[in-house]
Amino acid sequence: MKILMATTEAVPFAKTGGLADAVSALSIALAQEGHEVRIIIPRYYSINRDTLGHLAGAMGVHIGGREEWSAVYTKELPGSPKKNPVRVYFIDHEQFFGRDGIYGVPAEPDFMDNPRRFTFFARAVFQLCRKLGWYPEVLHAHDWPSALVPVFLKYGERTEELAKTVSVLTVHNLGYQGIYHKDNYYYTNLDWQVFYEAGFDDWNMMNLLKAGITSADKINTVSPNYALETQTQAYGFRLDGVLRYRSADYRGILNGIDTRVWNPKTDRYIPQPYSVKDMTGKITAKEALQKEFKLPLEPHVPIIGMVTRLTEQKGVGELFGPAYGSAWSICQDLRLQMVLLGSGDPWCENEIKNLSYRLANFKARIGYSEAESHLIEAGSDLFLMPSRYEPCGLNQMYSLSYGTLPIVRNTGGLVDTVTNYNPDTGKGTGFMFNDLTPQAIYDTVKWAVDTYYNRRSHFEAMRLAGMKQNFSWKKSAKQYLALYEAALAKAATAG
Ligand code: ADP
Repeated sequence: MKILMATTEAVPFAKTGGLADAVSALSIALAQEGHEVRIIIPRYYSINRDTLGHLAGAMGVHIGGREEWSAVYTKELPGSPKKNPVRVYFIDHEQFFGRDGIYGVPAEPDFMDNPRRFTFFARAVFQLCRKLGWYPEVLHAHDWPSALVPVFLKYGERTEELAKTVSVLTVHNLGYQGIYHKDNYYYTNLDWQVFYEAGFDDWNMMNLLKAGITSADKINTVSPNYALETQTQAYGFRLDGVLRYRSADYRGILNGIDTRVWNPKTDRYIPQPYSVKDMTGKITAKEALQKEFKLPLEPHVPIIGMVTRLTEQKGVGELFGPAYGSAWSICQDLRLQMVLLGSGDPWCENEIKNLSYRLANFKARIGYSEAESHLIEAGSDLFLMPSRYEPCGLNQMYSLSYGTLPIVRNTGGLVDTVTNYNPDTGKGTGFMFNDLTPQAIYDTVKWAVDTYYNRRSHFEAMRLAGMKQNFSWKKSAKQYLALYEAALAKAATAG
């Protein structure tokens, strides 16, 4: 099958979140199954042109009544199979992408011209197919920045060589929808009738994700449980109605993890590899973590790890909110150590720094570090994710593979991956709570720590049970293929 991924992030070229990992890993997994996969992505300023091949000739893209000119660069996706590599095409446009930041910078978190930039990108997808003379059977778009791709396919681009092409839209996070003033609709070159028909209209604004959801042949999100939750008012971010309306074409497919990078048997960031057969390396990793974060070297005290964006979505309010969050009591009352790596909202970074000055058993690093994130996953005994919502979540899957028991809220993909501990049977892979309150977080951490001290055989069995789970992309890729096939079958019967 010929598949074109339209995305604004893909590792190792551009990343702000899990989307970047998912797109590249899925593309590789599909290529390994013999499919012809290509990726189209903007050539951001940070991607060095000198490392890319150049396609001869400029490419014209019509948006908003004028033609924009761009260059196209290309490279093989690192890590893709030698015999069937995934080819990446980079769309170069100085005015739109020749700047720092993908969607924005700290001073301007959502670039003012984002609707124009991403309208240009979505149109470029079709121009690229023409330029290459290569026409995919499936156009797979990701999140709001490429949500216009299914819209353009349905309204105008499904002609000639693309007559049988279908679109799939993956929602990686429903919290970000791309809502802009409808003056920006002008850039799409679509009729105003389509504004309503394709679902752009959102209280007199223009909602790109909503239009994508309305227009795509098939839609999915990144876990089965999040697919159900997003159809309820509590988690639907006002799009629950549209998703319910499309429920026959909407499903959840769990992300996989990159087991070449996240595997305790081969991890190059940890001092000694380990596996279910020999867990000595985990003890070494714990000591290395305590040294790295200048914690007392206490092998018998449980370490709780966190690696996270410090935003409301991740439940940091309930944990670190001044005079409200439970992190202080957790560290003060319970015999444990806590290590955090993260960056995000300034208030939260400040609170965390404050706590780490005042508590001897709480250490934090504000910033982003691949190496430290691996050491935290390997060296911790427990991993805390009190998410408000979690489309899939990667860290709990990393934790499970590293024998680190997740403490998670009963939401989203966390439910599809973690099984709550049952003290009667000793079965489970983690600890779960329902309500997002400081008290519930405190109680569940206490429960987990008590289990570590007093039900050690259960705790150790749970580690092994988690490590034996399979979160490979191979499994997810099969389900994506089934989704593509369902889209093609639906189009064939309709057409
Ligand atoms: P989200 O995409 O919502 O941030 P996920 O759990 O799906 O959450 O994926 C987050 C990814 O980013 C994980 O791979 C996680 O380890 C990584 N990550 C987040 N913050 C940091 C950080 N400060 N340092 C290193 N890695 C981080």
